[in-house]
Amino acid sequence: MTGGKFGKILLYLMIAGIVFGIAIGGFFPETGGAIAFIGDFFIGYLKMLVVPLVITSMIAGVTGLGDIRKLGGLGRKTILYYMVTTSISVLIGIILVVIIGPGKADTKEEQLRLRGGFNFSELFYTIEGNEITFKKGQLTKKFDERYMIILKDQNDIRGNIRSNSNEKTIIVSNWVKEDESNHKPVNATPSAKGKGVIFDLSLSNKVIDKQGQTIGETLKDVLLGLAPNNIVRAMAETKILPIIVFSMIFGAILTTLGKQGKPVIDFFIGANETILKFVQLLMLIAPLGIACLIAGKLGAAGGIEKFGLEFKKIAYYAVTVMAGLLIHATIVLPLILKFLAKRNIINYARGMSTALLTALSTASSSATLPVTIKCTEDNNKISPKAAGFVLPLGATINMDGTALYEAVAAIFIAQLYGIDLGTGHLFIIFLTATLAAIGAAGIPEAGLVTMVIVLEAVGLPIEGISMILMIDWFLDRCRTTINVWGDSIGAAFIDAGLESEHKLKMSTT
Ligand code: ASP
Repeated sequence: MTGGKFGKILLYLMIAGIVFGIAIGGFFPETGGAIAFIGDFFIGYLKMLVVPLVITSMIAGVTGLGDIRKLGGLGRKTILYYMVTTSISVLIGIILVVIIGPGKADTKEEQLRLRGGFNFSELFYTIEGNEITFKKGQLTKKFDERYMIILKDQNDIRGNIRSNSNEKTIIVSNWVKEDESNHKPVNATPSAKGKGVIFDLSLSNKVIDKQGQTIGETLKDVLLGLAPNNIVRAMAETKILPIIVFSMIFGAILTTLGKQGKPVIDFFIGANETILKFVQLLMLIAPLGIACLIAGKLGAAGGIEKFGLEFKKIAYYAVTVMAGLLIHATIVLPLILKFLAKRNIINYARGMSTALLTALSTASSSATLPVTIKCTEDNNKISPKAAGFVLPLGATINMDGTALYEAVAAIFIAQLYGIDLGTGHLFIIFLTATLAAIGAAGIPEAGLVTMVIVLEAVGLPIEGISMILMIDWFLDRCRTTINVWGDSIGAAFIDAGLESEHKLKMSTT
């Protein structure tokens, strides 16, 4: 499928599909939306194959190692590879976002606008107790409890909004101002009239409420996630991590059973082959599926025109993430590939191209997994032992791209809100971004969800996520591609290790 002449044709068709998808979705958004279901069908079918594939390839992979004691070394090496590469990628992300500062505003006014605040400098108001009233028709927007009101002309006396029943009257919880000696809020009484009001997000409260999850709790969550009570439910909910651990232990035990285990092992090897053939069939409609997926996504965003009008800052943010991903993908990972796995970089990348394009178009490492396995084994001649072990595990826990993005996004949000992060905070972001990536499922936008872990750990407002939403469908694709690239290089790295072990054994016997 992915090799030879047919593989090449498939690749060209996929690229044509991407161009076609961009053209349709970009210029005829409605048509894009209308054909999106074909893309959903394609991705739905791929997803359907994920659980059986993970189970069979994991068991076939582990049992293929024969001796369970070898698994220890292989397991350690694989985890080490995952940890080192993910840490490097997070570090690249942190350095870039701190240097570039995509969310840093040039002026206070810009800062306010960026985080969704408003400055009504011409607005007249009257105050009675906790009630502030504006002239009818002057305030054109309603504000909820997430906002606070700042009276610019009264030394920044402020109050959190309690209710805003109409566009004329707002009730604040109580008026405070900052104590100059210790910067803590103290009660204040504003004068009855004035002009000029700022509506800003009441950040202080947000930060205080969101400090819930500590690193210890996050670690606990990851650990508890491995024991989902019911393995069938975990399968039904595509919770891959517990399934992987279960299959790994199941496979490991099988290798110790001798004769009794043999038919079971054979069953899983056969089942694995079958699912892989299934994927091969599905790839025949990949170009069409990809075209429709992209057309649908661009269509939903409102076409290329709308997309082009997005914020400058968001563009800087996207560029920062992309630059980080590129550095990791074209420098760090290839160095490992060349010097530790002893492979030709260009050839290896060429062999993986179908998988990388599938990742780009599906934004899901898990959905891409079947293609990733096919490409590494068939095109790049990685042994099924290494591929079967490293890739399924990597598709869920080794996400270099996601980890980098999580760190950049969290720091970007802090910059937008005008929060200065110290080294301690950056270190927590480093740790939690890695964890959040491990915890993210290999499905579209999973990283966006687990980012809450990072934001909460450093007390950043969760609402910040809404600011990066509009570009996330695009960045998701890019980071997923890097996730898959990282996994495939991991397979080469482990394969090289197995090979040298094998040679060593041969020479000593
Ligand atoms: N979509 C990503 C993946 O499947 C996960 C994420 O970053 O959202 O690898």
